[in-house]
Amino acid sequence: MNVPSLDLKAQYLAIRKEMDKKVLDVLASQGFVLGPEVESLEKELAALHGVGHGIGVSSGSDAILVSLMALGIGEGDLVVTSPFTFFATAGTIARLKARPVFCDIDEKSYNLSPESLGLLLRKKVMEKRNPRVKAIIPVHLYGQCADMDAINDLAREYGLAVIEDACQAVGSEYPSKLGTKRACALGTAGTLSFYPTKNLGGLGDGGMVLTNDGGLAAKVRVLRVHGESRRYYYDAIGGNFRLDALQAAALRVKLKHFPGWQEERRKRAEVYDRKLQEAGLPGGGLIALPHALYKNSGAANYHTYHQYVIRAKDRDALQAALKEKGVGTAVYYPLGLHMQKCFSELGYRPGDFPITEKACREVLALPMYPELEPEQQDHVVSCVAEFYEKR
Ligand SMILES: *Cc1c(COP(=O)(O)O)cnc(C)c1O
Repeated sequence: MNVPSLDLKAQYLAIRKEMDKKVLDVLASQGFVLGPEVESLEKELAALHGVGHGIGVSSGSDAILVSLMALGIGEGDLVVTSPFTFFATAGTIARLKARPVFCDIDEKSYNLSPESLGLLLRKKVMEKRNPRVKAIIPVHLYGQCADMDAINDLAREYGLAVIEDACQAVGSEYPSKLGTKRACALGTAGTLSFYPTKNLGGLGDGGMVLTNDGGLAAKVRVLRVHGESRRYYYDAIGGNFRLDALQAAALRVKLKHFPGWQEERRKRAEVYDRKLQEAGLPGGGLIALPHALYKNSGAANYHTYHQYVIRAKDRDALQAALKEKGVGTAVYYPLGLHMQKCFSELGYRPGDFPITEKACREVLALPMYPELEPEQQDHVVSCVAEFYEKR
């Protein structure tokens, strides 16, 4: 049996008629950049996340970049983030000649550890030569929000902006002390990605900045079109960060089905949890299941399972064995950003972030998508069990 790690065709086939019609409508309109479809999508996603403003942009990476630009972050500034994330989280900081400062993650959630963050900020502020910590970018990895109450408390204490990297967490909820809120409604701004493999994926690249701060939203809007305030008058140096009408139109078709898809992901995560338990694997210390930290908070979207990630003993051998059996898996991420060649000048060393480095050796994402069939999940679980029985 073949179980790919992701099956985008299954989703397309289920909505093909609607999608094809909408795409042809955009072609007929010959309006391709920004425009009414983008504006509608901005309103719909702002409303979904409970924020006042949405600005559609060219990708999730550009959403982070333009948010940093709008906050005035640039040369010599320090921005604290996780080393256990997709490259763009830190790459965007470095592109602005600011400096990524990494902070280790929490073992259970894989998100920024508030304890480590507190220690780091205290240390950085004490270093007189490094007074320019400006922002924190917490990442809501795999679809589960970082501990935003604790992170926001630290941000307030040190006067820092908070950009939520919610590229893997569209629609995810967090039980804050002010009640349950969605990702992107917790920080200064939040960023989404519509890369095709994300939970809400377009027909190519796309992204969005969400914020409750009207002033910041206005800056992002101007920076999105090169910093143009009115036709051919430029108040700032921005870029071409525009979202295409085709992407917005396609995303709006998907948005109708999106809440159901999120639920289907959660159900499949529960099936994995149960079946892997029944196979006795977590108990034997061979694998560890994902920790859904907010499961009993009453929030429906306590985790949106962009990825279902286990920790596995002999991870690489397990991955190879699963591949032999037609089961696709992935490792997000095999190397911490602090150890990437392009960041060697930052001066980090192996051992600097032990929790991240352990995760890099152990994590394995099992196939996860709303269309995953029960027999496919059975196959995945029995292949994992078989691998460990043979050892
Ligand atoms: C996908 C992703 C991004 C970048 O989004 P793109 O749309 O691919 O540019 C940034 N951060 C994280 C955590 C992501 O998963």
